[in-house]
Amino acid sequence: MNFVVAIDGPAASGKGTITRRLADELGLTVLPTGDTYRCLALEVLRNGYGIDQIYEITELARQLDIQFRNDGEKECVFLDGKDVSDEIREPAVAKVGSMVSSIVKVREQMTLLQRRMAEGKNIIAEGRDMGTVVFPNADVKLYIDASEEVRAQRRYKEYVSQGIDITYEKVLKDLQWRDNNDKHKEVGSLKRTEDAMYVDTTEMTIDEAVEKIKSKIITKMKHKNEKKEKSTKLNNETTREKPAKMDDYDPIDM
Ligand code: C5P
Repeated sequence: MNFVVAIDGPAASGKGTITRRLADELGLTVLPTGDTYRCLALEVLRNGYGIDQIYEITELARQLDIQFRNDGEKECVFLDGKDVSDEIREPAVAKVGSMVSSIVKVREQMTLLQRRMAEGKNIIAEGRDMGTVVFPNADVKLYIDASEEVRAQRRYKEYVSQGIDITYEKVLKDLQWRDNNDKHKEVGSLKRTEDAMYVDTTEMTIDEAVEKIKSKIITKMKHKNEKKEKSTKLNNETTREKPAKMDDYDPIDM
């Protein structure tokens, strides 16, 4: 793994949109970890499991086959080779996603899966525990936030545009439930940490947020590249000046 940007924050804080924009502009691979929990939730619903069937749900998590593919216009999510991009956006799936993500054994499996998906890539990962658990050594850590009302409004508009029949009050209630659940998990709970840059998008446009964050990432990328170049140069010089080995010692020459 080379360069890692870890983004955390509550639902509908704008982190998904910001992540995709940054990925496009900086050539990074997107890892939307919320979608991995949504895929697991979909499997749980399809199998008709109850939330207390921890063994069965953990087994499902272990066997998840998820792929993120860009169809030229948007990022699509494939589960077992089938496009589930729309299905996983349903409010019920989001709720079950939050429920299954509270199971410690499930989180262990999902952390392994997410790290595997990031292997060998320059990535920008977004979720709830990216900087705290999954990628604690990330090059850049961010916490993206917004007020509860603004987040509920954004999510409500999103649902309406997708043709989902729901009221603003229900969206707000779901969001409050999810925030509370996400912030009080035994492992991987959503929390703002000191090593993460805090960005409040309540009164910010996506463009403004992207610009603010982009310069920080570019600076970090430059530093990392310079450091790498320096150490490669140093390595090359050390190899060239390497002293003669004992194998080269010929006593007859003396
Ligand atoms: O980000 P998104 O809203 O799609 O995530 C769905 C649910 O998955 C969240 O409510 C959260 O409970 C869970 N999640 C998590 N850890 C992550 C990403 C998402 O627990 N890294």
